[in-house]
Amino acid sequence: MNRPAGGPAGAQRAAELEPVTALKGVGVALAERLRKLGVETVQDLLFLLPLRYEDRTRTVPIGSLRPGDRAVIEGTVDLAEIVFRKKRALLVRLGDGTGSITLRFFYFSGAQQEQLVRGTRLRCFGEVRRGPLGLEIVHPEYRRAEARDAQATTDRLTPVYPATEGVQQGRLRVLTALALEKVAASDVHDWLPPALLAGEDLPTLAAALEYVHRPPPDAELELLAAGMHPAQRRLAFEELLAHQLSLRMLRRSVRRDPAWPMAGPGELEQRFASSLPFSLTGAQQRVLAELRVDVAKPHPMLRLVQGDVGSGKTVVAAMGALRAVESDCQAALMAPTELLAEQHFQNFQRWFEPLGIGVTLLSGRLTGRARQLTLDSIAAGKVPVVIGTHALFQAGVKFAKLGLAIVDEQHRFGVHQRLALREKGISGGRYPHQLVMTATPIPRTLAMTAYADLDVSVIDELPPGRTPIVTVVLPESRRDEVVARIHGQCLEGRQAYWVCPLIEESELLEAQAAEETAAALAAALPDVRVGLVHGRMAPADKERSMARFKAGEIQLLVATTVIEVGVDVPNASLMVIENAERMGLAQLHQLRGRVGRGAAASSCVLLYKGPLSQTARARLTTMRETTDGFEVARRDLELRGPGEFLGTRQAGLMQLKVADLTRDADVLPKVQRTAEVMLDSHPDNIAPLLRRWIGAGARYAKA
Ligand code: ADP
Ligand code: MG
Repeated sequence: MNRPAGGPAGAQRAAELEPVTALKGVGVALAERLRKLGVETVQDLLFLLPLRYEDRTRTVPIGSLRPGDRAVIEGTVDLAEIVFRKKRALLVRLGDGTGSITLRFFYFSGAQQEQLVRGTRLRCFGEVRRGPLGLEIVHPEYRRAEARDAQATTDRLTPVYPATEGVQQGRLRVLTALALEKVAASDVHDWLPPALLAGEDLPTLAAALEYVHRPPPDAELELLAAGMHPAQRRLAFEELLAHQLSLRMLRRSVRRDPAWPMAGPGELEQRFASSLPFSLTGAQQRVLAELRVDVAKPHPMLRLVQGDVGSGKTVVAAMGALRAVESDCQAALMAPTELLAEQHFQNFQRWFEPLGIGVTLLSGRLTGRARQLTLDSIAAGKVPVVIGTHALFQAGVKFAKLGLAIVDEQHRFGVHQRLALREKGISGGRYPHQLVMTATPIPRTLAMTAYADLDVSVIDELPPGRTPIVTVVLPESRRDEVVARIHGQCLEGRQAYWVCPLIEESELLEAQAAEETAAALAAALPDVRVGLVHGRMAPADKERSMARFKAGEIQLLVATTVIEVGVDVPNASLMVIENAERMGLAQLHQLRGRVGRGAAASSCVLLYKGPLSQTARARLTTMRETTDGFEVARRDLELRGPGEFLGTRQAGLMQLKVADLTRDADVLPKVQRTAEVMLDSHPDNIAPLLRRWIGAGARYAKA
């Protein structure tokens, strides 16, 4: 069934590309609703893949139902009535001799009402819940069952499609069946070169599609539910390949775009380097050398720099900015929080002013006329270095000649923000070079999957003289000991952070908790100067607190997780994290990275409230056992799986239908190899494959 691929792209069989209206019973109105789901062609229907399956082959006695069950039931209508409570509803009482249940319809037609009368036999499917009259099913799928039909059951596992507003599941099942029929005659075109799948023992594309949409009666629900069936593996491979190709195409096209070549003599960098109180580490130098080669080209650099917390990424960014300035270009640095943007601004100002280079902060706080003036001077090219939050790339911001766009802590931004930055940064018809930095190390295969459009550099060395942070895990009941420890530290002239619990639902509650904690700690430590910083404070107040902490006026800084990324106060050597069991590993590691930045021995106390879940325990143990960011990331990946590890925002680029980065991780190397072969030998097959899996709207598939 595998048709040899490699023919001209236009040869794709017409049946797949026909509009959905070519299917029986699909009119303009339905086509419009389907279009909203991204389904326009017959092919789109084929690749609208089931999320899961339900075994509806057995009817369940009504008497044995429990709330939460999803089940097929069959019975006779005992009573049907329309009731008005808050809303008009049609209630149908269905019984089968073992018990009875209410079917509740809020929307129903006159025809339905006529059909659902006493004595009618119905076969229903739906989720059972507790209602005011006992168990009920709201809007069950149902059909009339004839008496003879009582034993007959649907012979297949029923596919459940992704939530589809305005189009019922039953309708989608009919539509996909029609689509399968339609292409059955002409066969679905396989864009994978057959040689690539030889020896894999996977079904053909057509067989795989048929199987997942219409699993045969003997299909194993468990294998399907786990996504491990060869048909699913076949499709998952192809889907991952499509995503890989799409990023690789993006990468290729980006590298053909024009950019300002920045190849100055490096005089500014030298002057800056000699003004620093330290010399660069070997790793920093290596990454800078890579960067210099990239930005000297007339095509944009796209480089991800991974470096553990405290490895000195900011200096690398500063060097990059100087290279841009030396080439008469502007540089922009985007940070995920106002606090961090402010800190970068202060550092850059301190570093660059002696070199005669202006630095501007474009914060969300800047409004009205002051903002307009700043925007004007950026647009006129009067400020060479601009620092800000994502506000940097909002409408109204225009650069005169942006040579380098730097994204700090890029894992906190979405992929789309990163890509938007590219488009926004165009000036004089050229794209900026991009330097993206993250402290979250990503294992190689995963990086090649999620960031296939980027080159990766690693700062795998910490500045010399750092003593490893000692981490202890303590129950809440030992809080007093921790308070005493803070006292001791502060008496020695050192500083400490106290991070209050994360309250995801409410920033307000989180701020209140922080205020209370600060008050309690100030009372317990009368001779310690306690300060506070949280997300609800006015930006100016936040900055004042941070500045006073930096200057040593505040000894103990009580904070929410706003200080998670970037904050750099080398004299702080004790980090206390409350309710550490609620936080993820990446976050704990980042927070802990706020200490251990100077030569003094630092420690981190993780306070927890029991009982601990198994994963919480594993996270805390990891924190105690290692300070190596790569090791932390490896365990994090183990505990969470790649999807969650990358974060939903990161994974936003990969809205996968059948594939799963955790489950299908083993095929990633093969996906990468196959992508190479397709790019080299079957370039014409790529566009139709992307169209099939990612759709016409794939923003990053700038092919
Ligand atoms: P991160 O990689 O987490 O962004 P930073 O850039 O904030 O790290 O650097 C952490 C600290 O290390 C800063 O105080 C910075 O000045 C210092 N630092 C950076 N590079 C070096 C170096 N080569 N030697 C000594 N200290 C350094
Ligand atoms: Mg940093």
